[in-house]
Amino acid sequence: MAKYKDNIKCSFCGRDKKDALILIAGLEGHICESCVEQAYQIINDEVTETGLSSNKKKVGQSFGLSYKPTDIKNYLDEYIIGQDEAKKTISVAVYNHYKRLKQKAKDDVEIEKSNIVFVGETGTGKTLMAKTIAKFLDVPFAIVDATVFTEAGYVGEDVESMLTRLLQACDYDVDAAQRGIVYIDEIDKIARKGDNPSITRDVSGEGVQQAMLKMLEGTEVNVPPQGGRKHPEQKLIKVDTRNILFICGGAFDGVQKEISKRLNTQVIGYSQNANEIVDTENLLQYITHKDLKSFGLIPELIGRLPVLTYLEPLDKETLMSILVEPKNAIVKQYARLFELEGIKLKFDNEALEFIAEKALEYKLGARGLRSLCEAILKDAMFELPSIEGVSEFNVDYKLAHEKITKSKLSKLVAA
Ligand code: ADP
Repeated sequence: MAKYKDNIKCSFCGRDKKDALILIAGLEGHICESCVEQAYQIINDEVTETGLSSNKKKVGQSFGLSYKPTDIKNYLDEYIIGQDEAKKTISVAVYNHYKRLKQKAKDDVEIEKSNIVFVGETGTGKTLMAKTIAKFLDVPFAIVDATVFTEAGYVGEDVESMLTRLLQACDYDVDAAQRGIVYIDEIDKIARKGDNPSITRDVSGEGVQQAMLKMLEGTEVNVPPQGGRKHPEQKLIKVDTRNILFICGGAFDGVQKEISKRLNTQVIGYSQNANEIVDTENLLQYITHKDLKSFGLIPELIGRLPVLTYLEPLDKETLMSILVEPKNAIVKQYARLFELEGIKLKFDNEALEFIAEKALEYKLGARGLRSLCEAILKDAMFELPSIEGVSEFNVDYKLAHEKITKSKLSKLVAA
């Protein structure tokens, strides 16, 4: 090994090679271990103060300058069909959320967090919307199910464990997690179980709502790194939730009743509304925070979820578009799988129509489209790799009908 020359010094502090533990050579100079440490500290401080990060794109900081709500909506359009109202609402909410992060701490007007709540039937794209936003922003993202939580001290998970998921999503990078997005699914399932105070405590309903309040608003939470209950021996990680965006979603089955009750009262109460045409097919579009309260969310929780929007039920045309249009549409994914086998996969329009009709009939929403395609293509995917010389595979109505009728899915008679 070549010996270091005697006159080598750290180019930053001038320390001699013999006084340094390690000297790292660069093109034109050297750096010692203590200068590396100092430089690391400076970068770290800078990152915390200004939010700038060299190795990770922290969109949250540069975001406000570069992306506008229309850019976010355009991005969502590439992956999600329809749901324009929800897309617009979330684009503005996210834009404001990151503008808020850029706000100077000393400002006298403190902008509150714009946590979001989505109301819409299952399979209409609530989770997809939250996931796509996180992808666009390049921030850590976790999906949690509200039904697993119970009030602290009872069997179930503490609400803090949702932050464990977020930490896990970014390899325990606390700074990154603190700017992440948590999607809380099935928020409607923790609604208060009726107005009568019962003798048994509502530990998985109102109790959980209470437990979530501080976290949603913004506080320092001690998070068990491996999830589960807080064991005294487990070293806890402190996570500040002030800049974490919480998006809640739920089907709120039956909330339509509350909405229609409210709308009717208004019609009776105010004569000028008597002629207002109410689209009774899709009452969710009229949802307000008041309806969430009537459904059983506590006012304190509703107050921490200021942005409320709804997702439209999916009709046949939308389901057909979902099959083929999004950037990673299901049909495109299967076509790629076949292409890797050297086979061109094609779906006739009638076949697509049939799949969409079946998804509606089985009440599977868009979630069912994949299972239906899988049922149609399973045999082909099993056999074709062993057959030479096939260059094209066409899915027509006859094939789609035959495969779905034979599959277990046809046992799913609409409820
Ligand atoms: P939800 O959270 O509302 O129950 P998801 O977002 O999980 O529904 O949707 C299930 C699947 O259905 C998604 O992975 C996606 O493939 C598809 N999907 C649902 N709605 C849409 C939509 N509007 N555009 C594109 N794909 C959709």
